[in-house]
Amino acid sequence: MTSPIDSLDVPRFVGVPSFMRLPQRADAARTDVAIIGMPSDNGSPFRTGARFGPNAIRAMSAMLRPINPYRQGIDVFRVLACADLGDTPVVPGYMLPTLEAIETFFDSVVSTGATTVGLGGDHGCSIAELRAIAKRYGRVSLLHFDSHSDTWDRYFGNQRHSAGTPFRRSVEEKLVDPSHSIQIGLRGSLFTPTDISQSFELGYDVVTWDEWAAMGTQALIRRILDRVADSHVFVSFDLDVVDPAFAPGVQTPEAGGPSASEVLAALRGLPALRIVGADIVEVNPLFDGPGQITALLAATVALEIIANIAFGRSQMTDAR
Ligand code: MN
Ligand code: MN
Repeated sequence: MTSPIDSLDVPRFVGVPSFMRLPQRADAARTDVAIIGMPSDNGSPFRTGARFGPNAIRAMSAMLRPINPYRQGIDVFRVLACADLGDTPVVPGYMLPTLEAIETFFDSVVSTGATTVGLGGDHGCSIAELRAIAKRYGRVSLLHFDSHSDTWDRYFGNQRHSAGTPFRRSVEEKLVDPSHSIQIGLRGSLFTPTDISQSFELGYDVVTWDEWAAMGTQALIRRILDRVADSHVFVSFDLDVVDPAFAPGVQTPEAGGPSASEVLAALRGLPALRIVGADIVEVNPLFDGPGQITALLAATVALEIIANIAFGRSQMTDAR
């Protein structure tokens, strides 16, 4: 079994940082959940610096503890063998070679049956993860938290891959089944009047932040469950879904939005989903607030997603 270093035995500030002080491994053998850094901001249309996101998240993840009180007190790392596989190769300044390098790395992990949790990096990385995941699972459902739809077509002339395009490309490439997918938290000013309707045209369901605020988190959870049903789910969490008051260290901040508490309540309220992959993206520590609050929230979101996987696994074991 693979457990984090116990912070009651060895102080948190001691040692080489890995996600939650998990074992660092070169491959995914005997691993249920693999944490993988994607230190690329090649796809960012505004700020750069998300290349430093994975290690910022790892550093603050030392604060997290293994027991999840929101899910019957399970010890996540007794249920799941987890490891930090380090970072994918990247080619700074070159989007397509970087996406190829991420996909190749994820291929080697996904093919073992391990569930991947990618730490970004900008949202452009998601297409590479989804290409690897679709090779094993076929089209998956997308549970996407973001203040932006990321369903635009082209940037800066003819650039088809950026942080703003992965969820159009992933429908075109048949990696994602939009009829079981949902985008949550969209808000703010638009480039064109069709910025949100373009997601509906691709087949997604969309819950804007205004709608979430009006319906409440329990109704949001029901909407998510109706949509994804029992399909294979990829969870993609862009930190800019959160109000920048709580998560200033992002690439493309959007004023207003749910608090840290509100997004955590939504994640903690979800029953076990059939998660086959996840990513936590767009953390930019160069713009983070005092106390590295964005990196701390990103690490916490990652753990809640892993806890959801562990909860599902423990229920399967109980049912046997
Ligand atoms: Mn995004
Ligand atoms: Mn965004």
